[in-house]
Amino acid sequence: MTEIGHLERMRAWFNSGATRSYKFRQEQLKKLRAAIIKHEEGIYQALYEDLKRSKEECWVTENGMVLSELNAAIRHVHRWMRPQRTGTNLVNLPSGSKLMSEPLGVVLIIGPWNYPFQLLFNPLIGAIAAGNCVVLKPSEHAPATAAIMKTIIEEIFPPEYILYAEGEGAKLIPQLMEQFRFDHVFYTGSTQVGRLIYKMAADKLVPCTLELGGKSPCVVEDDANLKVAARRIVMTKFSNAGQMCVAPDYILVKASVKQAFLAELQKTIKQFFGDDASQSYNYGRMINRAQYDRVTNYLEQATIFCGGKIDPEQLYIEPTILTDVNLDDRVMNDEIFGPVLPVIEFTSKEEALAIINRHPDPLAFYVYTSSASKENEWLDAVPSGGACVNNSSWHLTNHHLPFGGRGNSGTGRYHGRYSYDTFSHKKAVMKTPTWFDPALKYPPFKGKLKIFKWVIK
Ligand code: NAD
Repeated sequence: MTEIGHLERMRAWFNSGATRSYKFRQEQLKKLRAAIIKHEEGIYQALYEDLKRSKEECWVTENGMVLSELNAAIRHVHRWMRPQRTGTNLVNLPSGSKLMSEPLGVVLIIGPWNYPFQLLFNPLIGAIAAGNCVVLKPSEHAPATAAIMKTIIEEIFPPEYILYAEGEGAKLIPQLMEQFRFDHVFYTGSTQVGRLIYKMAADKLVPCTLELGGKSPCVVEDDANLKVAARRIVMTKFSNAGQMCVAPDYILVKASVKQAFLAELQKTIKQFFGDDASQSYNYGRMINRAQYDRVTNYLEQATIFCGGKIDPEQLYIEPTILTDVNLDDRVMNDEIFGPVLPVIEFTSKEEALAIINRHPDPLAFYVYTSSASKENEWLDAVPSGGACVNNSSWHLTNHHLPFGGRGNSGTGRYHGRYSYDTFSHKKAVMKTPTWFDPALKYPPFKGKLKIFKWVIK
């Protein structure tokens, strides 16, 4: 259990100013990079133990992504820290104005189990770059990865700077948040738990970033390149056995190309994972029995077009395509978060939008089309955290783009410069010279309305 004394020592250390210099931040980021490189094999082994993922997949979605964020932060943190000059309006001339970045203080970062390394360490990079002290809370459901992350953190950082806090979330997080006022909480996980965190934070007026889930729709238009669409959708939907927050949750395909598209999906699944995906090097497993049971229930709620084999011993669910789904069934109301993909046909855009709008503000939206006007119409019509055109999920790997949800799928954003901004306060500063101090600004005001109206408009 983390004691209040630990957290107060962190606050005192933060207040000492130890984390504020550019040199310190740069050194910590470099230490983290060296430790991740040193433990590369250990990270792969842990992710294999927890989720049966291949090294190659882990590089793309975990180690490589984190190292790429780290490299960007190491390269740019000096520039990010510089005050940003802004304009000054007429009434305040000849003052000068700027935005100064201030570290927030002691922040809490809470991670989920699906990409347990990347989703805990990527926000950590932003928090370090912005000069904060951090309590890191990994998910208890990916224990091997939690153990290697603990080794990395405790090997390089003292606990008054970065504290690794392990425990059951439902007990530990309320305990931490009740006894201590964090300066920010950064949470990644389900909407249900996000709501609880937000309520606890509200009590102490603690600002939050919430990276939540939802049902991310994927539209396939009649003019889409069906072969490429199938490859890109199958790749992201069945990566990590579908346990990805930005996986396409369900497909809305134009009725005229539905059969051709289903055939492409089936062919692609075979190409990627062979005749028996349970033997494939490229295919993962469900994290635990509870998730396996939840997702296998969806298989009974529609027609299985292909896939559907399961093995509880191995927590294995074959890549599965469902058709004839009922919109009122659980499979079309829960976030699926597993390797099950409903394909629904539509004839008009209005019909498709009515389905999408049953779950507003998805984390991501995908549209496959070869027409620029259709692409724009769809992007305009579906409010979402992020989006891809002729692609799925890859937007989150570009650290030049902010990543985050809206409304139901979360609040706030991160990655690259956006992470730095999330973990900084932008202090608005005005500096006014003393050589110019007209009497006009001061009482008595009588008779000055006309000139005030001219200056302030
Ligand atoms: P989860 O909500 O069960 O757990 C996330 C974290 O919350 C864990 O560290 C856990 O210990 C803690 N926690 C669990 N119950 C708690 C409680 N009652 N009070 C306080 N803390 C608690 O989420 P999960 O199952 O680990 O992750 C799956 C969900 O996360 C999916 O909905 C997915 O879409 C979403 N997700 C979102 C993103 C994103 O970037 N937006 C990324 C990954 C996952």
